[in-house]
Amino acid sequence: MSELHKFIFEGLPVRGMLVRLTDSWREVLQRRAAANDAFPEPVRVLLGEMAAAGALMQSSIKFDGALVLQVYGDGPVKLAVVEVQSDLAFRVTAKVVGNVVPHAQVEAMLNVHGQGRCAITLDPKTKFPGQTPYQGVVSLHGDHREPLQKISEVLEHYMLQSEQLDTCLILAANDETAAGLLIQRVPVEGAANLGRRNEDEIGLNEDYKRLAMLASTLTRDELLTLDADTVLRRLFWEEPLRRFPPQTGEDGPRFACSCSRERVGRMLMGLGRPEVDDIIVEQGRVEIGCDFCGIKYHFDAVDVGELFTPTPQQAPGSTAIN
Ligand SMILES: [Zn+2]
Repeated sequence: MSELHKFIFEGLPVRGMLVRLTDSWREVLQRRAAANDAFPEPVRVLLGEMAAAGALMQSSIKFDGALVLQVYGDGPVKLAVVEVQSDLAFRVTAKVVGNVVPHAQVEAMLNVHGQGRCAITLDPKTKFPGQTPYQGVVSLHGDHREPLQKISEVLEHYMLQSEQLDTCLILAANDETAAGLLIQRVPVEGAANLGRRNEDEIGLNEDYKRLAMLASTLTRDELLTLDADTVLRRLFWEEPLRRFPPQTGEDGPRFACSCSRERVGRMLMGLGRPEVDDIIVEQGRVEIGCDFCGIKYHFDAVDVGELFTPTPQQAPGSTAIN
């Protein structure tokens, strides 16, 4: 079962989290394979690592809404997206055009011409009028313009640059498991949110540096195969680690897609009747597939007729679907 573990180091300004996506991650890949649209192996690794990172970041900011991690690429991978809700429900997708070479990393997939970008969007569940989601964007380069090869490095860079938070992120994924470990220096004010900053401590806190160094000894294999208890004991057995009850099942990370026939209907209404009728004439029906979960929605001529006909209960001019 997929799980997320939070912990702190007693008396030290450092906290951590460990996430293991197992059943939920396999469901994502199975759905994609069932839709005859499996991603190439390096893209599966990328998306798994992004899903683990998204769960860790969503949990670390305590934000009521969707955290959306998007990488816009200029190579064969045009887009990789992970969306994690505040209840840790997540979904992922990618747009791949062309050939992804085996074992390709971030540069070869997303940053061939140096134009790749990583955007992190916080989209609040309830918005006041005119409110737009918060978004931060970083390039896929380090401080010296060197192309970064791992998505963990891109996100560490983002956390430092945009949030002034020292963060150590270890990520790994295969077709069974997507997992991540996050170690973060907590702002000294105590509040664990992005609003509080403590810039003069960046890169200087000795406790954080020691714990991040210990975390970085974790190998990819260990992260993928060992259970959370073993990983934390192995890394931090000499440290004042205090753990919180793990989040799992309905409280833990899990796959869920927010698509629906109603939403697709609204999208078709946005296209307009002439456009939709043209598709019916050409293809007999409209087929819209969800890029996240693989479900295909079909609308034939009768469905389209109903879609564009207001139901009698509704005032003229109002939309038939809400
Ligand atoms: Zn869906």
